[in-house]
Amino acid sequence: MVQIEIKLDPVPGADGANGVLTSKHSAVLHRHLDHEFLVLDQAKGNYLLLEDGRKIIDASGGAAVGSIGWGNERVALAVAKQVLAAPYCATIFFTTIPQEELAKELIAGTGGDMARAYIVNSGSEAMEAALKLARQYYLEIGQPQRSRFISRERSYHGITLGALAVGGHKARRAKFEPLLMDNVSQVSPCFAFRGKAAGESDTDYVHRLAVELDDEFQRVGPETVCAFVAEPVVGAALGCATAVAGYFKAVKAICEKHGALLILDEVMCGMGRTGTLHAWQQEGVVPDIQTIGKALSGGYQAVAGVLVNQRVVGALEKGTSAFVHGHTYQGHPAGCAAALEVQRIIREEGLLENVRQMGDLLEKRLRAQLAGHPNVGDIRGRGLFWGVELVADKASMTPFPDADHVCMEICELGLDEKYSILVYPGGGSVDGIRGDHIILAPAFNIKPDEIETIAATVARLISDYFAAKG
Ligand code: PLP
Repeated sequence: MVQIEIKLDPVPGADGANGVLTSKHSAVLHRHLDHEFLVLDQAKGNYLLLEDGRKIIDASGGAAVGSIGWGNERVALAVAKQVLAAPYCATIFFTTIPQEELAKELIAGTGGDMARAYIVNSGSEAMEAALKLARQYYLEIGQPQRSRFISRERSYHGITLGALAVGGHKARRAKFEPLLMDNVSQVSPCFAFRGKAAGESDTDYVHRLAVELDDEFQRVGPETVCAFVAEPVVGAALGCATAVAGYFKAVKAICEKHGALLILDEVMCGMGRTGTLHAWQQEGVVPDIQTIGKALSGGYQAVAGVLVNQRVVGALEKGTSAFVHGHTYQGHPAGCAAALEVQRIIREEGLLENVRQMGDLLEKRLRAQLAGHPNVGDIRGRGLFWGVELVADKASMTPFPDADHVCMEICELGLDEKYSILVYPGGGSVDGIRGDHIILAPAFNIKPDEIETIAATVARLISDYFAAKG
């Protein structure tokens, strides 16, 4: 048994002595070159401790990553043990017990609906692998003409070129358009808040979207399509937008009609975030390929993955028997050990039940404290995945102009000592349509008093922000 004693010393002051580090004085190529960054020192439970001594409640699990809170010693020990045992594995020759056990755990969590797990390091990598698996599937079964993807407008599937190409996030695509594959087309998302016509029933809305998708298959040639790609509950792009009942059954039927695969991106909404291990388990469909990330390792290591059903695995087995893809760090032993421990904790501690209960409480409190605010257009979500959409005019749902940077300003104000809360920004100009929202996605073991604090602080934050804006 390895005995490890870890002493947590505060980070030495250096440039960040006052808790703020300007990008100008940093050797890091930060996302924003003109920005000041707060220096994170430690994270414990549902709190982030900054170098300047401030304590911030983490209401979004970072970027909807944290699933068991921060500072879990069981996970830290599992990672440390694995690093000492075998920190790296050349997966072209070897496998490790954590990788095998994690895959087993993940497949069991699908009730056997999926057959194999492919472990990588980020959601974008998982999406790249998913797209290539779909393409290779059709090569294996003798349909090489299938090389197209249909995805949805106002979607985000990752930042690498393939993932960006299937995404419908105009602002993130714009500069890189000439580099993106062009065999992708997009249809409308299922987004009741802005997409459903006045007086339209859910059934009619689903029917309209299904016809649009079917028409798109016909337009591009159904025999050329590999897969339809969608996020079951849309996170960053639409602010926790759940689909209208029956939507996923309808799109799955269209995929089946045209012999195409269904790829569901559960990088953000999956691994328990919405109250079931997989968001598709609440939609009555099973995907052919599914991506996972974020809550999978709960932030303890960089881990993501692809779950693949037997239809696809079987074609590879009968065909060339090799997936022509790979990363140096795939199946990383320490990453697998972290994800495995996190998943075991979620299962053993019954945290999905807590997601459902605390999700209900969060919804109630958000609606009670925010629904009447003149700049809150919509409150939506599922489990511990909630979005608050902010509008300039409630009656017409008119969004704020781009230049106002409303959601980002609110999130930055949240970090002020007066509020000390981390909420996550989303929206902006996605596909030319404005929409500011903030995302709440606390850890699955959050407690009722913490939910009360989060809801009350978010209400105060939004109210103060708009009062000051005038
Ligand atoms: N897919 C979805 C739905 C996401 O929300 C994200 C990231 O936010 C990704 C894919 C990409 O994941 P990563 O940032 O780990 O590459």
